[in-house]
Amino acid sequence: MDPITHAVVGGLIAQALLGRQWPRSAWVLGALAGMSPDLDIFFTGHSLIASLFHRGPTHSIALLPVMAGLCLLPWLLRAATRTHLWRAYGVAMLGVASHLFIDTCTSFGTMVYWPFSPTRVALDWVPIVDPIFTLSLIGLLCAALWRKQLRWAGVGLAVCALYFSLGAIQHERVMTSQTALAATRGEVREHGRVTPTFGNMWVWRSLYRTQDDLVADAVRATWSAPQVAEGTRVPRPAASTYPTTATGALFLKFTDGFVLPYGTQDGAQIWADARYSLDTRGFVPLWGMRMDVDGRAQRITLASRLGHSLWETWCLQFGTTQAYRPLTECLSGPLGPAGVPSGHHNIPSPHNSHSDTGAAHSG
Ligand SMILES: [Zn+2]
Repeated sequence: MDPITHAVVGGLIAQALLGRQWPRSAWVLGALAGMSPDLDIFFTGHSLIASLFHRGPTHSIALLPVMAGLCLLPWLLRAATRTHLWRAYGVAMLGVASHLFIDTCTSFGTMVYWPFSPTRVALDWVPIVDPIFTLSLIGLLCAALWRKQLRWAGVGLAVCALYFSLGAIQHERVMTSQTALAATRGEVREHGRVTPTFGNMWVWRSLYRTQDDLVADAVRATWSAPQVAEGTRVPRPAASTYPTTATGALFLKFTDGFVLPYGTQDGAQIWADARYSLDTRGFVPLWGMRMDVDGRAQRITLASRLGHSLWETWCLQFGTTQAYRPLTECLSGPLGPAGVPSGHHNIPSPHNSHSDTGAAHSG
């Protein structure tokens, strides 16, 4: 998630557990610990390798005690603040752990088991950015600090517990819907993911691959039974066409195999990360990899604005669109236009290709 959310959650933990002992600076330690794993961005910059290694070692359980110790250093240096140090160290550990947990709950993939395993854990429970959640927590932390009442920090942590529990429940509901959707279409799903869309947990991007295709739909899961706005199907690239370099293989693994060939630019081949799309039920990827003929690879930004109207997006989120139908009505009928939407080949020039897109770099 974004650094502000990490800082606020860390601050709430510290204020609840250390607020009495360190009334003035507990939340600062918590915020520092909460943000610390994202320090890797400063070391790796905005290159492709940086994207592929973000949420790497600094997000691992193995380095958690070290990260917590580093955050505590400023308090160790001053004799006046060397009190309740073991408690403070425990709080710093919890702050770093909260970061690992929150990142694991998003879709980006976090290497919590490094160096024992390079597996990226992505539970897909919550959006990478959720302003309403973040603002609510900021309000509760401010109340805890301003009124000097620790119970507000406790309320903030209870809100977090409810939020992530809701994400887990919603994920289960939408995943069940995706299974039913593929079965209704008579398709064998090789691998599927469902991810909440920006800032909410009721509209989800459903993405799965069959032997031949990648399929994206929007699923809306509110109080009633989930409904589906059928989306887009694109042919899956043949395995023999995948990039064979070490970076290419890393990119494939990083994207969980959801990659799409996205045209060429000056002879270089563009591969898109199909997990993220500006169009929930289509393929308007945010970023990808540009692979030169000599095997050099770099990060490239692919889409930065919607190919369809904001009104359409609003309707998809809040349900005034006719596109949503009950699962039982989603027969094997035609999905949206086959192929990648128009504008597909609007690839920015290489000198713009390092700019960040948010989704690919969010803490
Ligand atoms: Zn992070």
